[in-house]
Amino acid sequence: MKSESSLKAKVHFPPKEKRLDVVYTKRYKIDSPLWNDRAKILITSWIPYCVSQIERTDLTLGEGGLDNFIEAGKALRGEPHGKHLGYVFSNAWVHQTIESMCIALMIDPQGDPEIIAAQEKMKVTLEKWIPIILAAQEPDGYLQTAFTLRDTNRWKERWSPRTRGNHEGYVAGYFIESAINHYTLTEGKDKRLYDAAKKLADCWVANIGPGKKVWFDGHQEMEQALVRFGRFVNDMEGNGRGNSYIALSKFLLDSRAGGSEYDQSHVPVQQQYEAVGHAVRAVYNYSGMADVAAETGDIDYQSAVMSLWNNMVNKKYYVTGGVGSGETSEGFGPNYSLRNNAYCESCSSCGLIFFQYKMNIAYHDAKYADMYEETMYNALLGSIDLEGKHFYYTNPLSTSAPRDAWHVCPCCVGNIPRTLLMIPTWTYVKGDDGIYVNMYIGSTINVERVVGTDVEMVQKTEYPWKGDVSITVNPKQTKEFTVYVRVPDRKTSELYTSVPVVNSLKSLTINGKTVPMNIVKGYIAITRKWKKGDKIDLLIPMEVQQITADENIEADRGRVALRFGPLIFNVEKADQPDINQSIGTSPLLVEWRPDLFRGTMTIKGTWADGTPLVAIPNYLRSNRLGTTPPADRTPTSLVWIKK
Ligand SMILES: [Zn+2]
Repeated sequence: MKSESSLKAKVHFPPKEKRLDVVYTKRYKIDSPLWNDRAKILITSWIPYCVSQIERTDLTLGEGGLDNFIEAGKALRGEPHGKHLGYVFSNAWVHQTIESMCIALMIDPQGDPEIIAAQEKMKVTLEKWIPIILAAQEPDGYLQTAFTLRDTNRWKERWSPRTRGNHEGYVAGYFIESAINHYTLTEGKDKRLYDAAKKLADCWVANIGPGKKVWFDGHQEMEQALVRFGRFVNDMEGNGRGNSYIALSKFLLDSRAGGSEYDQSHVPVQQQYEAVGHAVRAVYNYSGMADVAAETGDIDYQSAVMSLWNNMVNKKYYVTGGVGSGETSEGFGPNYSLRNNAYCESCSSCGLIFFQYKMNIAYHDAKYADMYEETMYNALLGSIDLEGKHFYYTNPLSTSAPRDAWHVCPCCVGNIPRTLLMIPTWTYVKGDDGIYVNMYIGSTINVERVVGTDVEMVQKTEYPWKGDVSITVNPKQTKEFTVYVRVPDRKTSELYTSVPVVNSLKSLTINGKTVPMNIVKGYIAITRKWKKGDKIDLLIPMEVQQITADENIEADRGRVALRFGPLIFNVEKADQPDINQSIGTSPLLVEWRPDLFRGTMTIKGTWADGTPLVAIPNYLRSNRLGTTPPADRTPTSLVWIKK
């Protein structure tokens, strides 16, 4: 018998030897119609709501908040104490909410009395919570209340293969991450969380590693937290103090073996080429791998990361930038299997944004910023409702389900705001020779230490509603450096084809003078002696694009999706009686609707029967549903419209 097969290989150059540098989120100002509204809702409604849920002691669904830390503190002091409540990983949403509060406190309230009042309450909450959390940290630095309050007959020791599912690294990682933004909030003056995070990371380093324990966690998160923190500690202390955290991250990833696809331990990570298993675990795994690849230059890691990225983006990626069809447990399905009642868990969008961001800083390539912008505006932004009172755990592309007030597993509740509000980090990265502009959000952000000077970057724009952006570059000292301007390319995944193509700028000027548009890796580099007040003006083409999917995606055959700028649009029953008919042929035009959702762009056209078609941004979907789904469960909101 004979058999034959062929293998197509893509050859990539390795990333540049030196990765780009993170711009940490510090005090900043937002000046954007969309983001001012969203940030205000998160600060005044959503985060305070998470705080009150976490402080409640009577929850019967998704319980396990501050009470666990209080009881663990009692246990450590040898006092009588209660049992652990909720999931074994319930510390996660407490740590993430702390991180969210820290970031929210760095946003300039610009005199808004409601934001100021909410921020004052957050300061009080942090002062109340931090001592309670630190009192639950064991003397050697270990911190997980489920362990401290455990049934010792069933859970004998830390880091045991038998209790891999107990999320020890998952909750430790979120604690460590919360310390970074608490440090930047207090400008390093209050090191309580920072020092405790180092103690926790040091405890792991002391116990796990070559010649010590071999271990991996059933739910990744510690891996990316350790690199994020290791970089941060190195940047703050400058003595290689964080290197052992980065080394431990690689060791944890290297130790993944002998398990299943569900938690990406089926084969060594360097031999993983297809995105499989639980989607949140997967993107956290790949994000940690991308970190390790960028920090160590390990070619096997680089190769595996690029293969995994390629498979996910070009075979298993939704047009909204979400991942995880939900065909395996909360996870990925086979290639091209992208049903529209997708899982797309909010946490997987957060993890994917982190993953794409790390690819951007490793490869100095704007396409990864195109992708995290896509995921942020579509898969993640709409996970919280307009009023900041409900959230989606899953983000399907066709739905009739309202958002949840809380969830049996509220893992996403703090992850969503901390990711959305980290605007300075997403907007700029820096290299040895200058600043990369990755996002267009009206804002004032200080980028520190660019070729020896601090540079205040002021963006004026109503993007994503309008395409004109004006960036004022204010270096403290006049210096020669490069500003890399990202040219959005809406072609992100091979799975989707958009008409018309949008991948250029309409114009680009410096102080009114036209600049040649030489695009390299998605950026136009402008090198000059920059002085205070120098102004870059650019015009991003804003077109209604009609998107069709690869024929292999059965669910989208004969269907079309609509995009304007970075935003995917939905048709909803709230705007038209029948959303299951075909789209008509009349031109699709945008219309600003100040009356709708406190102001939004809509797309207007006609249906095949001649009646008017109205589409709204996907992130605003399902805001007019009430709290109970329609009895017949037919979709009330759709991304993919019949052609
Ligand atoms: Zn989640």
